[in-house]
Amino acid sequence: MKIKELLAAGTKELGLELTSKQIDAFMNYLDILQEWNQKMNLTAIDDSEEIVIKHFLDSLSSVSVMDLAGDEKMIDLGTGAGFPGIPLKIFYPKLDLTLLDSTKKKITFLKNLVRELNLKGIEFIHGRAEDYGQKSKYRGSYDVVIARAVAPLNILSEYAIPFLKPTGSFLAQKGAKVKEEVIEATRAIEVLGAEIYDVVSIDLPYSDAKRNLVIIDKVRETPLEYPRKAGTPNKEPIS
Ligand code: SAM
Repeated sequence: MKIKELLAAGTKELGLELTSKQIDAFMNYLDILQEWNQKMNLTAIDDSEEIVIKHFLDSLSSVSVMDLAGDEKMIDLGTGAGFPGIPLKIFYPKLDLTLLDSTKKKITFLKNLVRELNLKGIEFIHGRAEDYGQKSKYRGSYDVVIARAVAPLNILSEYAIPFLKPTGSFLAQKGAKVKEEVIEATRAIEVLGAEIYDVVSIDLPYSDAKRNLVIIDKVRETPLEYPRKAGTPNKEPIS
């Protein structure tokens, strides 16, 4: 199957439809990612089919279970080479998106990518989630926080929940160990002022992999002491 067809068929399996303009944007993203990946290590996944399935379709898989209007203020924490944030922005052009990562070269790549794809309404942050979650411009100001492959859920919750508005939701894309991660994170989520709304299992198209989306709702203000200083959530997770 051709790469374009794989993307179109895969999104259909997720119950989504892409326009030809959106498919072209994904094909450009693929080319630019592979070109930059030769110069700098952005992602271990470099084969075209694998990028479509494990990056593009996996990033879009969350859309099939989220009830988004498409114009939310969203932050993607630890976005790396843009996942899941950029695929979501291609799908929902009106998203008000912030991409945050602590690795400078990834932000440099993303700025170039966004310019080449002509995407508008994206803010870039080079920094640590723990630091930005304490800044008044960002704390408590997002409808949606999303993250994939950044940290175990107990640690990730401390990065993510402080960014949410009182009515916001945190969506964590997780793999096979989701049950253990949820159990380990239960107390942290409560302490941070949120609760688990649902855990949805998704079959990733054209793969045997199962993915899990943990949906966490904010229910009250996060105590001011969180997030603690950079490195502490990782060294001493809330327990
Ligand atoms: N989310 C992307 C994906 O799924 O392909 C990238 C995953 S990569 C394994 C993890 C990324 O999170 C890296 O780019 C790293 O720089 C970033 N990261 C890890 N801890 C972070 C923190 N505390 N604040 C900001 N970025 C962080």
